[in-house]
Amino acid sequence: MLQDIPGHRSKAFTEVLAATQPVLRQLAGTTRPVYLATCSSWGMMEACLRNLVRPGHAVLNCCNGAFSDRWHEVARRCGLYATALRVPWGQPITPGLLEEALKARHYDLVTLVHAETSTGVLNPLQELAEVIHLHGQASETLLAVDVVSSYSATPLAMDSWGVDVMLAGTQKALALPPGMVVCAISERALERAGQVPYRGFYMDFLEYEKNAIRDMTISTPAIPLVYGLAHRTTEIQREGIENRWLRHRACRTYVTQWAKKHGWHSAAPSGFQVDSLNCLIPPSAINTVDFVEQLKQQFAWIIDPGYGAWKGKCIRLSNMGILTTQELDPLLHDMEQLMKITPA
Ligand SMILES: *Cc1c(COP(=O)(O)O)cnc(C)c1O
Repeated sequence: MLQDIPGHRSKAFTEVLAATQPVLRQLAGTTRPVYLATCSSWGMMEACLRNLVRPGHAVLNCCNGAFSDRWHEVARRCGLYATALRVPWGQPITPGLLEEALKARHYDLVTLVHAETSTGVLNPLQELAEVIHLHGQASETLLAVDVVSSYSATPLAMDSWGVDVMLAGTQKALALPPGMVVCAISERALERAGQVPYRGFYMDFLEYEKNAIRDMTISTPAIPLVYGLAHRTTEIQREGIENRWLRHRACRTYVTQWAKKHGWHSAAPSGFQVDSLNCLIPPSAINTVDFVEQLKQQFAWIIDPGYGAWKGKCIRLSNMGILTTQELDPLLHDMEQLMKITPA
């Protein structure tokens, strides 16, 4: 990422961009190009709303955590007719509820956060996509999925599950610095964008497509990040994508088991846990803001005391990127020490 920066239309740069494609596509389970967008995840999340909902049509936002709740809020800010399909934080969206909502009225777009980073819940994406194909008025209802915390951490099959958008910021499971999003969209989504007026330029899916097929970006991208991404895709290839999934699963279950032994429990029900992090509820009335502060002062660890409405009620331990169970041990050890000093 520190090397000299070439022009973004140069052959040298387009070759680096092209080299990332096979792994990026494989991680999403698609043969479509994977766009690189210079923004954080929210840039592309908003772009889905602006590209895929026709005037006079509606969007259904599946809400079960901080990020999915906000996607609904952003839809409203864009002036869209938006309905929230809500379940309590910590619960997954169920196929039954989605089916009911789709039978009640027509939606141009459904938004879903695959892995809710705020609660550690993994939504049953394949089943939900199936419901949309059965009840979403054939090819009319599109499905846009935020895979920010699951991309590269868990298997994804965009094409065979029939998902229309998958997007992920680089700073989560890919563990690169922030500032870029990888995003694939289906042919159907591309067609839809063509029917939506006033898409602007910088976030226009048709512009992304036009450039991506030439291994280019619509304007000057975050070039050092693309070099970082090329490094990461090479590393993923070397490790093996399936080995990477297994390592994330092993790390996650390692922490889940540690938690069980020490009186903490996962916020997500079993079978619906994200493999790239643990969202853990403390044994009793521990305020996790205090716990995390003590962990920082006494042991120099910085961990998260819960996000949004759950601040102070849980901790979140990530095992994104290239972490191994051995690297988690010193943290878990110090958390045990802290619990001995200040028992619940
Ligand atoms: C972090 C996160 C986002 C927002 O990401 P930015 O890169 O800050 O825009 C969206 N969705 C999920 C699931 C996240 O974890």
